[in-house]
Amino acid sequence: MEEAKQAPLARYTTIKIGGEAERLCHPEKVDELVDLVDELIKKEEDWYVIGGGSNLLISSAGVKGTVIRTTKLIAITTPEPGILEAEAGARLPHLARHAAQLGLSGLEFAVGIPGTVGGAVIMNAGAHGSQISAILETARVLDSKTGQVTVMTNDEIAFQYRRCALDPARHVVLSARFKMPADIPEEIEKRTKHNEDYRYKTQPMGWPNAGSTFKNPLPDKAAGFLLDKAGVKNLKEGQAAVSDIHANFVINLGGATSHEVTSLLRRMQECVREAFQLDLVPEWKTMGSFTDEELSVWRGKNESSA
Ligand SMILES: Cc1cc2nc3c(=O)[nH]c(=O)nc-3n(C[C@H](O)[C@H](O)[C@H](O)COP(=O)(O)OP(=O)(O)OC[C@H]3O[C@@H](n4cnc5c(N)ncnc54)[C@H](O)[C@@H]3O)c2cc1C
Repeated sequence: MEEAKQAPLARYTTIKIGGEAERLCHPEKVDELVDLVDELIKKEEDWYVIGGGSNLLISSAGVKGTVIRTTKLIAITTPEPGILEAEAGARLPHLARHAAQLGLSGLEFAVGIPGTVGGAVIMNAGAHGSQISAILETARVLDSKTGQVTVMTNDEIAFQYRRCALDPARHVVLSARFKMPADIPEEIEKRTKHNEDYRYKTQPMGWPNAGSTFKNPLPDKAAGFLLDKAGVKNLKEGQAAVSDIHANFVINLGGATSHEVTSLLRRMQECVREAFQLDLVPEWKTMGSFTDEELSVWRGKNESSA
């Protein structure tokens, strides 16, 4: 297994922010990942799992303990017609293209989401009216509290809007099994292309970012719309800025720090609170050392239900 000490993490996040991990490991087999987590638990050392780093704000002050990156666990198999199984580190766009080639529908929404299967399960990633929970049948999950690997059903994972019952501080998604209806490959390709084109038109493709910053506070109130109306486009804190293409996207202009980002998020929340009396809660997860004040940005009053 490849591993490094004092490894800078910014290169492993899509927003290109993140200090050093004390130790960074890249397991090449699922069993290696399970053994590593077992060993770290026995030694009572801190550990974290990252996939594509596309929904994460990692502290510029770094991460104490071991960061385990899943991106070498990429096997995809078709055990039965209509079923795809993928390891945790398989990339969603790759999985979506693979499914389309097999004439399997249901992942057209995922072609522009730069995350992994594990991250998509934790976040219940979705777009264009669909989400991972719509096709996930089961997931193999390591529960670090019991040391057991179990197969959890869709119901047990209890998906909700951009979250589920699994806690990344406790559970590690090892692989997932998807049940997908057959469709004509040309039709799947048409929907995929439509979704891809829409992204190119509406998202800041040229700048490092971590996707949508805030969850929609209500089913009929998109965070991007509220932020836009509240006038946050082009707000800046140091090298972190709100995109002028999409008000719910924060971009790194070059060398932004996690502190600059949390300050910017607070200002965005304040603008929406003032304009609409609504509290926005970030969609992103955090990792590493943050102050209480920085973390208060994640303690919005409204838990999202959109
Ligand atoms: C340009 C862009 C567009 C995006 N568009 C969308 C979109 O349309 N819809 C959407 O829902 N999201 C979108 N995202 C956000 C993001 O891509 C998704 O949330 C994705 O599912 C995150 O996966 P990841 O592997 O990058 O997770 P990471 O960012 O690496 O991690 C996210 C969380 O999951 C945990 N985690 C990761 N892997 C595992 C695992 N195997 N086991 C346990 N915990 C794990 C991490 O610890 C962390 O808490 C977008 C992001 C970008 C940059």
